[in-house]
Amino acid sequence: MQGSMDRRSFLAAGAGLAAASLTEGLPQSARGPEIFVPAGDPVMVASHNALPHALPKAYAALVAGADPVDAAVLGAEVVENDPTDHSVGYGGLPNELGEVELDASVMDGTTGLCGAVASLRRIRNPAAVARLVMRHTKHAMLVGEGALAFAKAQGFKEEDLLTPEAREIWMYWKRSHSEKDFWLSPAAEEIPAHVKRWFGITGTVHFSARTKDGRLGACTSTSGMAFKLAGRVGDSPIIGAGLFTDETGSAGSTGRGESNIAVCGAHTIVEAMRQGKHPTDACLVAARRVADGTRAAWLKKPDGRPDLDIIFYAVDREGRFGGASLWEGNRYAVADASGARLLDAAFVIAKKG
Ligand code: ASP
Repeated sequence: MQGSMDRRSFLAAGAGLAAASLTEGLPQSARGPEIFVPAGDPVMVASHNALPHALPKAYAALVAGADPVDAAVLGAEVVENDPTDHSVGYGGLPNELGEVELDASVMDGTTGLCGAVASLRRIRNPAAVARLVMRHTKHAMLVGEGALAFAKAQGFKEEDLLTPEAREIWMYWKRSHSEKDFWLSPAAEEIPAHVKRWFGITGTVHFSARTKDGRLGACTSTSGMAFKLAGRVGDSPIIGAGLFTDETGSAGSTGRGESNIAVCGAHTIVEAMRQGKHPTDACLVAARRVADGTRAAWLKKPDGRPDLDIIFYAVDREGRFGGASLWEGNRYAVADASGARLLDAAFVIAKKG
């Protein structure tokens, strides 16, 4: 009983400190209700789609002593292999030509090494290929045909990544995305709900892991923006944007990659943590920078606010963690001694009532 009271006072004191660090005009409610206190246990923070399966598996490996990059890649592989997640790996939504092009990156905070692949076709596990770029080469990134040749040489199996359902979603998009082509648009009621729910939605999976002794590693994997131009590369494989890890902290992102590339989001977060910010506050720094950087009219809603979203995830060397997005209403996943669960992300912009 005494212990829990101590913990409560500590949480309250932490909340006060955090509020004091948010002097840039953010309402306290935007930061989320809870301040997380490190328990000295392994911690993983991840995007929401790491639940229900990937995060518990990755976290169990971390607890059993896995290297943090290996645990993160293990988690990414679960989502890459899941044909029902149309934002990552096998079953990912294709580019506008119907080809699935995957991006992924890894970074090891202990060695300072990183690896990435971009526009990789026909290989369902780009995260593991990125890890081999980091561990078996003197390079940091391979793209397109070169990345495919590298993956094949490493024994990865080539396969068609476009599942029947992803093809169906792509076809409906193709028929309905423009009135100025030769396709006949389907009537709204003709489009099945399981197709409609993927229109305008993309995604990515990110994991940042911290071992019991404070080592950090991360992985981000994605099929990128659905129906993108062929060859388009988002933030996920860009070290410093979709992922960055050093010995002080690890961060990653999901959401509109182009806007994140423009602010080097993950590096910005780790730098803020290095300067002492709590991971949540560090994520808010990057989210605010994206919001402030959204100046092009075509990226704004009619009311002038950003018509895009990015969610940032972070964990520091001490095991503190957090997540923040531009818009209210996002969630992120965490696994620690209290289990794997979803938490509300802090935010910069409140939804209108
Ligand atoms: N960040 C990914 C990209 O821009 C997409 C996403 O997370 O929705 O490729």
